[in-house]
Amino acid sequence: MAQKVTKIGVLTSGGDSPGMNAAIRAVVRTGIYHGLEVFGIMRGYQGMIEDDIFRMEGRSVANIIQRGGTILKTARCKEFFEPEGRKKAYENLKRRGIDGLVIIGGDGSFRGAVKFSNEFDIPCIGLAGTIDKDINGTDFTIGFDTAVNTAVEAIDKIRDTMDAHDRIFIIEVMGRDAGYIALHSGIATGAENILVPERKTNMDDIITSLLEKERRKKLVNLIVVAEGDEFGGATEVEKVLKKNLPNAEIRVCILGHIQRGGSPSCIDRLIASRMGYHAVESLMEGRHNVFVGILNNKMHYIPLETAVKNKGRISEEWMKIVKILAS
Ligand code: ADP
Repeated sequence: MAQKVTKIGVLTSGGDSPGMNAAIRAVVRTGIYHGLEVFGIMRGYQGMIEDDIFRMEGRSVANIIQRGGTILKTARCKEFFEPEGRKKAYENLKRRGIDGLVIIGGDGSFRGAVKFSNEFDIPCIGLAGTIDKDINGTDFTIGFDTAVNTAVEAIDKIRDTMDAHDRIFIIEVMGRDAGYIALHSGIATGAENILVPERKTNMDDIITSLLEKERRKKLVNLIVVAEGDEFGGATEVEKVLKKNLPNAEIRVCILGHIQRGGSPSCIDRLIASRMGYHAVESLMEGRHNVFVGILNNKMHYIPLETAVKNKGRISEEWMKIVKILAS
């Protein structure tokens, strides 16, 4: 029988994503509703190691659902990779009587949680907070929808000037290992080409079609590139194109960190609220070392171990759709 939890800690770790605050709010308020003591842990695993931990009340999370970033701050913590670091973290939690953890972060944070929970007797529940949507076993991750919408808004604006000048635009979006932001924002803005890390790009095809457009004096072309594509991002793609189309007007725009910030979309607030609520319910029901996912609109509890990168999941069909719709 799992022991009943009485004091839980919540932290945000790794890359921040819009909607993390909504998730923290849901965890804190659901915990308090159930009569638990809830503790905020600052700067992810770093705060666990440094005992930067404070008691949270319902009002500690007032007026944050609409804010991007994370009130608990986030960090990348080298010490947590080492057994001594994790032991220090455990001792701090133990001393405070914290007997359950909610970890909001990406697959790296989940890997840390797996190690920690294999070593110590504190159940961990993960919430997938990542703009990249690169966690297996859930249709949604907190922050993806907002990031994609930010990218779409920016690309729409760039398209206006691209169109006015008959230019080739190469726009780089985030996604070191996963091309979902590129795929979704590219399709939604009518990009002619979308380059993602999961699939090989036939550059000869792209060049042939651009040369053809050049002949017709219709050289307007939008290329959306994930930062981790095989060429190494937009600037590298530009070099290849420049070599083959020396007279073309090519512009590069790297959207960068604007994709991480900003007020979370309605969808991200909803899923964060729902996942946060279920994270606490899960701890109360004695679940441990799973993350909360949503599949076909139902909650699922997936072992943290399986939350690995979703490489190779962008199907041939998606790329066919891109090609047909942009032709
Ligand atoms: P994300 O959670 O956004 O994928 P990272 O990959 O940077 O971000 O991971 C966040 C933190 O999780 C790391 O800084 C580290 O403290 C912890 N972590 C990641 N991988 C491991 C691991 N294999 N062992 C222990 N801790 C890890």
